[in-house]
Amino acid sequence: MELEIFYSQISEDEVQIIKNALIHTYKGVVEVFIGGERELPPEAYNRQRDQYDAELLLRYLLTKKKRETALWVISKDLCTQGMNFIFGLAHHFRGAVLSIFRLSTKELREKEAVHEVGHVVGLPHCTNKCVMQFSNMLWEAHMKPFSLCEECKRKINLTT
Ligand code: ZN
Ligand code: ZN
Repeated sequence: MELEIFYSQISEDEVQIIKNALIHTYKGVVEVFIGGERELPPEAYNRQRDQYDAELLLRYLLTKKKRETALWVISKDLCTQGMNFIFGLAHHFRGAVLSIFRLSTKELREKEAVHEVGHVVGLPHCTNKCVMQFSNMLWEAHMKPFSLCEECKRKINLTT
């Protein structure tokens, strides 16, 4: 599967770190490309909440992407209906958006990127010791491991 990374207001070094984490985790399953910088569409901005609407951004990304799947990494906070904030939102086999707004360390950014791309390759949430554990709180994101469990690896035919 091909995955193209787009980004908004994020340094290229930061994007490279995320790319490397994805290559490391999904070797042989996902081919990662850097697509370039994109401007955030103003219609996705929620002035009252000072956040961006994740569903709108994801829909926008899916209409603009050139390759099979895409990941859009942004520096602004994301929200969705019924949640105060989210780290990311994904659509199986199509794409995902990820916000690093609340992810203050390299480790957290890598984990959440690997998690969202896990959804892109078709994985649901997982209750094992696994990066696919659901987390919408920072401490949960801290606690979960960097890597996929054996069960998730099998599901996507990852051999390493
Ligand atoms: Zn998830
Ligand atoms: Zn798992």
